[in-house]
Amino acid sequence: MASIGISGLGKRYGALAALDGVDLSVREGEFLTLLGPSGCGKTTTLRCLGGLEKPDAGEITIGGDVVTSVPEQIFVPPERRDIGMVFQSYALWPQMNVFQNVAYPLRRRRVGRRDVQKRVEQALEMVGLAALAERPVTRLSGGQQQRVALARALVSRPRVVLYDEPLSNLDAKLRTSMRMGIRDFQRELGTTAVYVTHDQVEAMSLSDRIVLMKDGHVQQVGTPREIYERPRTWFVADFVGYENFFDADIVERSGDRAVARLDGADVALHCVGGPGKKGRARLCVRSTALSVVRADEVAGERTNTIDGRVKDSIYLGGQVEHYIEAAGTVLRVRDDDPVPSGGQVSPGDAVSVRIPPENIVVLDADEASEPT
Ligand code: ATP
Repeated sequence: MASIGISGLGKRYGALAALDGVDLSVREGEFLTLLGPSGCGKTTTLRCLGGLEKPDAGEITIGGDVVTSVPEQIFVPPERRDIGMVFQSYALWPQMNVFQNVAYPLRRRRVGRRDVQKRVEQALEMVGLAALAERPVTRLSGGQQQRVALARALVSRPRVVLYDEPLSNLDAKLRTSMRMGIRDFQRELGTTAVYVTHDQVEAMSLSDRIVLMKDGHVQQVGTPREIYERPRTWFVADFVGYENFFDADIVERSGDRAVARLDGADVALHCVGGPGKKGRARLCVRSTALSVVRADEVAGERTNTIDGRVKDSIYLGGQVEHYIEAAGTVLRVRDDDPVPSGGQVSPGDAVSVRIPPENIVVLDADEASEPT
């Protein structure tokens, strides 16, 4: 186990800044995932960590040892970093069988024959391939090959394991079971892991913390729950699936309670959290947090209710998606209940949309630059 420190990491490819001042720290034994859209710099960060890429700026430490430092011209080669790597392409040796592939890192370190036997058997047991030890890797399915790659990365008990989209070539069912497998190995071995993916569910289910990247920068670091429930920028909110956005003015604030007046509509919404000041803001709400009520059924409490008209309702099986024209925009509402309170709705019907205060994410307008 080892902690990792990354500071001021920069990498250019010609005019393009693939990484632009990335700062990160990974705790001992932590599972940290780099998440973000294609081209945001996830793989480049991982390759710099593994020593497969030399950055143009910054410093990397593993277990407190400097392995890369641009100002000090230090660069420890990959084989001396004590790191296991698992890639999207399995990179197995086709002329070797399963056992020989997994044994390779140990033999290179001149581990004794009996130890090699024991540790490879353990690793294959862990990935559920003990029965296939003698099989040539060319005669394995994609999922089995990936498990061999995993066993090979873990067999020497490296202090850090780097994963680059290891599951993206597998079908959905296998991906789910391998995901659970990786989580179990991680817990069992307690190694520090850095995992790259653009799959949000994968990131959520595996990680202690998630790093959301955009254009070579870190946008937010947080636990899966923090990233999902408290995104700090519009880009993060959009990336993790918030569908409804409002421009607004925070007109009242007391502690973490606020009242926001929406642009272009005479509506005030009570909100919880957000930057502790008044002024311009952007509100983000998930479609699953909203509910639709027929206008003729709304009784009593009208706080956090917006009037609108049904544009469309789409039946999705377990859910119904309503598109509601309201507050100068079209709101998306996903309802588990196919029949809204007060009865079925059809295009053209007058309805009200309820927005619970605790489900509104309030962003400072400065942090709410448009996602690209
Ligand atoms: P993906 O999810 O598509 O793998 P990523 O977030 O891992 O994307 P990187 O592979 O780190 O992104 O690439 C970051 C940027 O650097 C991209 O714009 C990419 O095109 C560019 N890039 C990466 N490697 C090279 C290279 N060897 N030569 C030129 N440009 C490169």
